[in-house]
Amino acid sequence: MAIERGIMRESIVRDTVYVGGAWIRPSGDDMIEVVNPASEQVIGRIPQGTPEDVNKAVIAADAARSDWAARPAMERAKMALAIAEQLADRRDDLVETIISELGAPRKLTEVVHVGAAIEVFSSMAEIVNEIVLEEMVGDSLVLREPIGVVGCITPWNYPLLQIAAKIAPAIVAGCTVILKPSEITPHNAYLLAEAIEAAGLPPGVFNLVPGYGPVVGEALASHPLVDMVSFTGSTRAGRRVSELAAATVKKTTLELGGKSPNLLLDDLEGPALEDAVNKAIRSAFPNSGQNCGALSRLLVPSDKLPQVEALATQAAEALVLGDPRDAATDLGPLVSAVQRERVRGYIGKGISEGARLLTGGAEAPPGLNSGYYVQPTVFADVTPEMTIAREEIFGPVLSILSYKDEEDAVRQANDTEYGLSAAVRGIDAERARRVARQIRAGQVMVNDGRRTGLTPFGGLKQSGYGRESGRYGLEEFLVTKALHL
Ligand code: NDP
Repeated sequence: MAIERGIMRESIVRDTVYVGGAWIRPSGDDMIEVVNPASEQVIGRIPQGTPEDVNKAVIAADAARSDWAARPAMERAKMALAIAEQLADRRDDLVETIISELGAPRKLTEVVHVGAAIEVFSSMAEIVNEIVLEEMVGDSLVLREPIGVVGCITPWNYPLLQIAAKIAPAIVAGCTVILKPSEITPHNAYLLAEAIEAAGLPPGVFNLVPGYGPVVGEALASHPLVDMVSFTGSTRAGRRVSELAAATVKKTTLELGGKSPNLLLDDLEGPALEDAVNKAIRSAFPNSGQNCGALSRLLVPSDKLPQVEALATQAAEALVLGDPRDAATDLGPLVSAVQRERVRGYIGKGISEGARLLTGGAEAPPGLNSGYYVQPTVFADVTPEMTIAREEIFGPVLSILSYKDEEDAVRQANDTEYGLSAAVRGIDAERARRVARQIRAGQVMVNDGRRTGLTPFGGLKQSGYGRESGRYGLEEFLVTKALHL
């Protein structure tokens, strides 16, 4: 499909699903419209998959399972590398697609949405080398084998990256997969399927069935031939997937929501405090705040509140909100009208429950009359029981809370039903590490520490279980078997 940079993509209509290595007509005729959130225009259509399509895909995946599992792991990792090369050949198309269906700004799309997704595939050979697939325990041979047929259900917020984080380790582990991408951002998944086909993956190892979660997602989670479901999305949908999977005792991994704390320790002063607050704003609002790991609660020593409020307001107001195609844009629109209304509702709740609006608000940003934009919004005087301190907003909204001392800070950081991410910043690095160890979250950034593609990512509590990324992510797709010799 031809594209021109800076010009609206022509409408893309996909009328097939990818099953058993072939592009086939779906069993139903219903289609789903795909909307560009910056223009509010329909930019394409995809098939609304059915349980019958899921069944065909599962049968194809099951038929391909034994042969694929029997191949050497390094051969499978080389296939992931070939997929990375095919994706790299489609890099510009992927970037324009994700900008137009998600509304993510160009810089973020190039580096994270597309760049990091390609790296997931290309890093597989290195990761496979780290894993012990066979070992002797006494006279027994312990094998780690692929779990089998895996259903992957992914959301719209990092569409290609979250697909890559499941598909690449699953196929390199020797599993066969059926992907159900979000129907809101499906076109990048079609480009991935084309890359996989061009790379020469054997038929049935990867299958794509788009459609709605309660139909296609639930059919996957219930299918008796599916051995595992790897899910990323809301806690609500994750709970439903795990209930359905329990009927046939499938393994599930759930990467769900968060309400992650960013704890500023009281030794931060002057330029260090300014730097910490600037970074706090950037780590609360990436991808317009549509980020499961967004650090959306800023915990500040009470005597530093006035300074932090002023710095946070300034930093939020400096963000450039606008056309995601522009390289200078920091924040694009939210993904959909539904998401915009949900976030506006939370802003209204913050105000009505007594939080003080420092900047932003529920009104449309000045000068942006179309597109699902929400102003970067910062609240002060937020208390722990307020809705905006407790619920995942998934938009550009930061809540500032204050604490008395270190013990109170840790208590508030952990006062959440979630446990996905957290951050601790302080001049005394030893102290910051000590505090980080007390936070119940799957990952804690200490000062400028960052996660890489080799480190594990996942949650505790209602943020889910299981890990993605690196060796830890690949190991989720293996089961242990013992041969007593
Ligand atoms: P969902 O959890 O509904 O969507 C995520 C994925 O799950 C999509 O592919 C969706 O399909 C699928 N799904 C939905 N319902 C079911 C089901 N019953 N069985 C199987 N699969 C299902 O997220 P939303 O798009 O509705 O977003 C709502 C909120 O969820 C956000 O505001 C945010 O708070 C949170 N969220 C968190 C994410 C994270 O990374 N932690 C990612 C996305 C959302 P379909 O879209 O086709 O229905």
